[in-house]
Amino acid sequence: MTRRMIIVGAGPIGLCAAASAVARGFDVTVLERGEVGEALRRFGPTRFFTPLSMNLSRRAVELIGGAQPSEDAILTGPEMVERVLVPLASSSALRDRIRTRHRVISIGRKGMSRYELSRHPLRAERRFRVLCDTDGGENIFEADYVLDASGVYGQPQWLGAGGQPAMGERALPGIIRSLGELSDQLGSMAGKNILLIGHGHSAQNALGLLGELAVEHPSTSICWAVRSANTRPCAEVADDPLRERRTTVERANRLAESPPDFLTIERKASVEAISPGAPHSVRLSGDRTVLADVIVSLTGYRPDLSFLSELAVDLSPSTEGAGPLARAIASVTDCLSVPTVSAKELASGEPHFHLIGAKSYGRGRTFLLQTGISQVESLLDSLG
Ligand SMILES: Cc1cc2nc3c(=O)[nH]c(=O)nc-3n(C[C@H](O)[C@H](O)[C@H](O)COP(=O)(O)OP(=O)(O)OC[C@H]3O[C@@H](n4cnc5c(N)ncnc54)[C@H](O)[C@@H]3O)c2cc1C
Repeated sequence: MTRRMIIVGAGPIGLCAAASAVARGFDVTVLERGEVGEALRRFGPTRFFTPLSMNLSRRAVELIGGAQPSEDAILTGPEMVERVLVPLASSSALRDRIRTRHRVISIGRKGMSRYELSRHPLRAERRFRVLCDTDGGENIFEADYVLDASGVYGQPQWLGAGGQPAMGERALPGIIRSLGELSDQLGSMAGKNILLIGHGHSAQNALGLLGELAVEHPSTSICWAVRSANTRPCAEVADDPLRERRTTVERANRLAESPPDFLTIERKASVEAISPGAPHSVRLSGDRTVLADVIVSLTGYRPDLSFLSELAVDLSPSTEGAGPLARAIASVTDCLSVPTVSAKELASGEPHFHLIGAKSYGRGRTFLLQTGISQVESLLDSLG
């Protein structure tokens, strides 16, 4: 019997999952709201911190064949799309299975709400009904299995204290919230007062880009607001084997430790309010005020749960990712130390529905493509 599978998202995980599921005999359709690799297209010039060999499944490598870059290549997001994901999506196994410009709006069980027989195996007897918006109007797909690989990159977190919107934030359309937007707008930011918020991997990369701009255009000034009280605010992994990540963290911490003239650091800072007029008057905790022409907020991302509201999914109350997975890896602090998890820990509570990839980690910061790919393989093994 044909087993129909819908995969939401044509990012690296959705495509690797599709390649492996097709090889296992599933009849797969991938629904992607934008173009193949849509999220990675918005990474700007930032490079992966893992080499290509850690970012692809074995099956995907086979499908691309000899055309791919070398396995130790450290690619930018757009390079990964152009040189790896587009060739993978165009391979004979996947080419007719990917529907771009198909945004999933709702996933449910045919004629069965979330409330009915919640968490009961009998729910598996009703097929999934997936409603999409496409350029040609609405479309419905049916499936026996759904893997949600829709990532988190489309939903930036608010920049205010405690993850809430700062006063005035919702009314300000111009806040830069991705590295791609930053690199697109960098040229127009010379000579401006720039406020950068966040101290994770994206903010560290943004600081690198902004620092280069300020060196080239000395009238540019950067204020970097971080929640950490540390002199070196970015978390360093002892003896980090990932060179790209080590270099990025080290560069950001060095700048924070001895800031050049263009840079000021506000530590233990959370944003309380932003005034609408430019320059924006930004009120930080501790009664501090910063004037900013441009605000760059890189404070993390969260999953879009809106289209899952009719599924009885076990979500983690803290990460908003998959509940059993979050419990299994709760004590992990570095993405390289995520342990192997069992099929039970990859279950969602809704039979034959699974969160995979970055979305399964929700707001968690320990997602790594290599682990995500191996979790997909274990999951597909468990589906038989
Ligand atoms: C700057 C940056 C650098 C990173 N570097 C690394 C690294 O070096 N190594 C590593 O292992 N990880 C890295 N990560 C983390 C992670 O691996 C990436 O975010 C990766 O893109 C996650 O892959 P994914 O396929 O799960 O999700 P995504 O790549 O985000 O793909 C999700 C796809 O789903 C689509 N989608 C979303 N909603 C819908 C919908 N409703 N309907 C249809 N389609 C939808 C999106 O358009 C997108 O194409 C990095 C993350 C960032 C932000």
